[in-house]
Amino acid sequence: MPGPFPESIQRKIEERLRFYDDLGIRLFYRDRTASSASMDSIAPSPIVPVENVAVEEMELPKSAPKPVESKPATAKSATPTAIAPKATPAPVAPQVEEIVAKPAALLFQADDKVKDDTLLKVREDLGECTRCKLHKTRNQIVFGDGSSKARLVFVGEGPGADEDEQGLPFVGRAGKLLTQMIEAMGLQRKDVYICNVVKCRPPGNRAPEPDEVTPCSPFLLRQIDVMNPKVIVCLGAVAAKTLLNTTRGISQFRGQWLEWRGYKLMATYHPAFLLRNPPAKSEVWKDLQMVMAELGLALPRKKSS
Ligand code: SF4
Repeated sequence: MPGPFPESIQRKIEERLRFYDDLGIRLFYRDRTASSASMDSIAPSPIVPVENVAVEEMELPKSAPKPVESKPATAKSATPTAIAPKATPAPVAPQVEEIVAKPAALLFQADDKVKDDTLLKVREDLGECTRCKLHKTRNQIVFGDGSSKARLVFVGEGPGADEDEQGLPFVGRAGKLLTQMIEAMGLQRKDVYICNVVKCRPPGNRAPEPDEVTPCSPFLLRQIDVMNPKVIVCLGAVAAKTLLNTTRGISQFRGQWLEWRGYKLMATYHPAFLLRNPPAKSEVWKDLQMVMAELGLALPRKKSS
């Protein structure tokens, strides 16, 4: 019985998979025929509407950024600074000062930690929040999900329709891909913490506005400080630009270690962007492997040819 594709196409697919093998990223391109239904969301897919990310902020990936010059890390500060990669020298790249705006303009100030804070206390203090206009259109607050002891925190931009309905972050199609990314790292969702810059869905899936981020940010900061994570991964241009207070494109600083309020921060593409642009998965996988190395997780072994 003939296969599903003509032989020439089949050959091209096999060549491409071998190429991914060589890069060590085949895990992101698993066979669509695999038994798990959840595999579908990680495979290349047609352009589809994705709820929880602002389309205008997305960018096509450019060439991988070069490492940034090392700066001595200080105690918790408001200004993110780049951290040099451990092994690879050769720093030629945008200075941090070029990436971020002046500290005075930051939406996320370096507030002192709340003593003996817990996620429960943060949630109680947030209450049925009406601090910004997003409360008028939300169904429910999407506080965050995962372990209060997580060493790895993912921060997205804001809830989408699925999240607004279920009250959990990253549960739509993009969320399923994020789950697969986490599993590809050898972790489970319960091992990490997932939250957003704002906790209520911006109408029409637009990007959160400053008068929404500002009142919401203290709660995000407290959540992060409760976890005191080793690494924060910023998902997507909106979250990265908002946290870092920069207008620069994410492709100019993704894949680099930045220092944000004393935490190591890696900005990478949003899973919703990957659904539209599957080739960018390889860039994200490289970023996640840097995160894995930082966390001491076993990296996937490259297959020998
Ligand atoms: Fe409150 Fe944040 Fe929701 Fe605005 S987005 S209403 S500040 S919880």
